[in-house]
Amino acid sequence: PSSAPQTKAKDKGSGTVKQQTHSNLPFDPIRREESRLKGLQKELTYLEQDIDKYGWNNLTSKEQQNITYKRNLLSLTRSKLELHASKDSTYVLPESYVTEDGQIDRKRKQEVLKSVSSSQIGSNTRRSDYEKWEETQLSKKMKINHPDDIIVENKTGKVYEYVFDESQHVEFTTTSENQLNSTDTVDQDQDQDQEQDNSKPKTIAEVRKTLPVYQYRDELIQAINDHQVLIIVGETGSGKTTQLPQYLYESGYSSKGLQIACTQPRRVAATSVATRVAEEMGVKLGEEVGYSIRFDERSCESTKVKYMTDGMLLREFMTDPLVSKYSAIMIDEAHERTISSDVLLGLLKNVLKMRPDLRVLISSATMNAEKFSDFFGDVPIFNIPGRRFPVDIYYTKSPEANYIQAAISTVFQIHTTQPEGDILVFLTGQDEIESMQENLQETCNKLGDSISELMICPIYANLPPEQQQKIFDPTPKGSRKVVLATNIAETSITIDGIVFVIDPGMVKENVYSPQTGMESLVVTSCSKASVDQRAGRAGRVGPGKCFRLFTNWAYHHELKPNPTPEILRVNLASVVLLLLSLGVSDLLKFQFLDAPSKTGLMKAFELLYSLGALNGKGKLTTLGKTMSQFPLDPKLSKVLITSTSYNCTKEIITVIAMMGEASSLFYAPKEKKAQALSARESFNQGCDHLTFLDVYQKWEDAGFSKQWCSDYFVQYKSLQRAKINANVNFQSSRERISRTLISGLFTNISKLTSLGNYKSLKSQQTMSIHPSSVLSKVKPPPKVVLYNELVLTSKEFMRGVIEIQESWVYEVVPFYFTQAE
Ligand code: ADP
Ligand code: MG
Repeated sequence: PSSAPQTKAKDKGSGTVKQQTHSNLPFDPIRREESRLKGLQKELTYLEQDIDKYGWNNLTSKEQQNITYKRNLLSLTRSKLELHASKDSTYVLPESYVTEDGQIDRKRKQEVLKSVSSSQIGSNTRRSDYEKWEETQLSKKMKINHPDDIIVENKTGKVYEYVFDESQHVEFTTTSENQLNSTDTVDQDQDQDQEQDNSKPKTIAEVRKTLPVYQYRDELIQAINDHQVLIIVGETGSGKTTQLPQYLYESGYSSKGLQIACTQPRRVAATSVATRVAEEMGVKLGEEVGYSIRFDERSCESTKVKYMTDGMLLREFMTDPLVSKYSAIMIDEAHERTISSDVLLGLLKNVLKMRPDLRVLISSATMNAEKFSDFFGDVPIFNIPGRRFPVDIYYTKSPEANYIQAAISTVFQIHTTQPEGDILVFLTGQDEIESMQENLQETCNKLGDSISELMICPIYANLPPEQQQKIFDPTPKGSRKVVLATNIAETSITIDGIVFVIDPGMVKENVYSPQTGMESLVVTSCSKASVDQRAGRAGRVGPGKCFRLFTNWAYHHELKPNPTPEILRVNLASVVLLLLSLGVSDLLKFQFLDAPSKTGLMKAFELLYSLGALNGKGKLTTLGKTMSQFPLDPKLSKVLITSTSYNCTKEIITVIAMMGEASSLFYAPKEKKAQALSARESFNQGCDHLTFLDVYQKWEDAGFSKQWCSDYFVQYKSLQRAKINANVNFQSSRERISRTLISGLFTNISKLTSLGNYKSLKSQQTMSIHPSSVLSKVKPPPKVVLYNELVLTSKEFMRGVIEIQESWVYEVVPFYFTQAE
């Protein structure tokens, strides 16, 4: 649109102005105090007029408190400035004149004054020092007079000023019964050990030994040897996820080329834990310790411990129904009851009989342990005693209309009134996290150094891994970390140092109605079990506080006791398709932990039948088999497959990727609404799908530019994600093509050698990529390739080359290759 370039010019203009103001910013604390003093004086002039006009007694108590507070603040500010003015005076006073509650003991003071005045220091200076000291003591007490100071006492004795519009403050209440009790069952001895060690930094090996699970290492290994299935229960942070797979590794479970798998409901958890464990074991990620999540795999033949999403392990059942690669499988976070982990448990239950050597560990929070034990036929539950300090729970007095805003206010309330300790905020998704992060950052910038630093760390699934690791960075002294997390931080990830939890009590859930066949992501209230789990995150390093942005009444009357298992609330078409492709034909007989409703199953069958994935007898068709290979909703898989016959695969992939971003694609800032709308209109193709496509293609033509996005009011981040997803989908269609090629051309596969040439996977033949191939100039050269033909000219050349992953070969043609041991 013609309007867009104007914006650019305008922005440039304001840039120079900004620079000027920047140098004038009152970073000097004295300047700030001075300007505060002026402000207060002015404010009080008005307030005093109010008193004159209406009379003190006619003011509301809130108004009275406000005036008292302002007066006290004024005198405090004055004394601060005076103190500064006499900076060189020896401002050291014997503590003995001051009683414990900050009062000056007049009598003692007289005595001391006498003795001091006989010394050599000039009495004038001393007297004023006394006055200052008194003032400081007094000002400590002023704090309590603040009209909104009802939250929590300030133990540090420091005086903080309120930095927020006080009308924005969130009011909390608590009663003595609102406490999450500590679960301190760890020996006193060990406790003390840990405290003494605090002074010097611990090595990784030492840290491993301080984890609660370490004490039970031998017992655990024994129990695993003795029982094919074991349920493990323990507080979050006790070391289940990071340590148990290592214990298995250390006690030889990964010998004979077998692997240890540990599944996670979330991709972020799989990658971050793998990173941590690789570090603990002192190996490179992707070698002995690896991970596998959708569209991203870092593991190799020598991988011993593999963290993966539960969905990935489920897919492995397709090519390897007995999961023969693994000697032990840990289904972690089983209490979350994701559809994939539920189905995995059902499948594993069948596999156990055929694989007596296989060990299955199921780790769960306390809530579901019995249920798992019953499901596998009364298997033992191993309880790892953990440690948790008490957590005080605060509720809002009335429901919060805007919980993001309330959470932001609460962050600053904590930051300005509470002693050190990091904050963890539970939000429902990336969009909320990003908007809160922006808002917090803006406010911090405005406040400059009038508050100590806030280190804001977001964590959600789509965040690049390097940034995910940032939440584990230690908080620098004098600043406070604020972690903005999805419910990934509920149990899967443990962040040390959290003392405060802010919980709006919401979660984003996929909800499906079998009646209407509609599926939607909705933000709803969490369960009691979830909010209690969240509160517990505050009690890991010491006593903590949890601020719930809902009322005590809501907790007792509105929240359901436990989360609803995913399988009971989502569209079952993907699961049915998957189970059928795994050869489970009688779904009604399949053992589910909680069986989905018959209506739900029937609806899924109907849908799959109408998509052509099933025939009239309910058997999988060839199309259905292909569809099951895509990690996509069956409807979208069908669309993608059909696109090949219409020659529009690239466009369809883009449209699908863009559809996922539709809600956050365009934005319109208030001041530039008209411009934004006209920019949006310029993409209008008369329908949404083609409009999305147009946006993407124009962005592509603009070299994927960021400036282009801001000119056209399109979210750069959304487009970037769509680009990744589109590429990934290309990748997956490439994977599908590769797998198909492997099924016939498995004799034509070769692997890169250290000399830079290739060697056939099956024979000792060496070869190179033909110069005519697009892959001949690619750096670094692909590791494993499949070729159409081998031609001999000056040497052996491969022609028609495609890069593949070695693991696909073993999966597609397991009979032909046996993996090297
Ligand atoms: P659990 O599975 O029982 O909840 P974990 O094994 O996940 O416990 O965590 C044990 C400890 O390892 C935690 O206290 C945490 O501090 C530490 N930890 C886990 N992941 C990381 C990481 N990526 N970076 C640093 N420390 C981590
Ligand atoms: Mg864990």
